[in-house]
Amino acid sequence: MPVRHVVALPDAVLKQRATAVGGPDEALARDLVDTMHVSPGCVGLAAPQIGVSSRAFCLDVSGHPKGSSKHGLVVLFDPELVHAEGSEVAREGCMSVPHFTANVRRAISVVVRGVDAQGRECLYEVSGFEARAFQHELDHLDGLLILDRVASLSTDVFRRKVYQPPRPQP
Ligand SMILES: [Zn+2]
Repeated sequence: MPVRHVVALPDAVLKQRATAVGGPDEALARDLVDTMHVSPGCVGLAAPQIGVSSRAFCLDVSGHPKGSSKHGLVVLFDPELVHAEGSEVAREGCMSVPHFTANVRRAISVVVRGVDAQGRECLYEVSGFEARAFQHELDHLDGLLILDRVASLSTDVFRRKVYQPPRPQP
């Protein structure tokens, strides 16, 4: 079943350091991508979010208006951050933290290397929103969530607004 259940806090798998994959895993890649594609508004998904404690993620910011670099669909195994530059704070959400968004400080541009689903070495130089997505997914592999990244739990965390239909008039 390629589309997997997305786990949310307080599931312990989200807080673990994921283990190295050691090579491409096409079944895992397919599950990640299929699950990301059926999840509305989802621009990235890490293996721990589907309950697999492996160092793998996928992302795709091509449909997002804020992306200043856009590489389309990216699937990476055993990714490593090799360079980071700049710093800015922006609001982030996460499917595994469904009730909150948070202001998170991230590097503005990063270089990340890893192995793709076919086992090829890849190097991504990314910036802006796409760089933020890479850093968010890398964090998942180290058991870090947006709530672990805020400067202040009282001023940088926001409850998601839930749509409430207007009350019928008396
Ligand atoms: Zn997330």
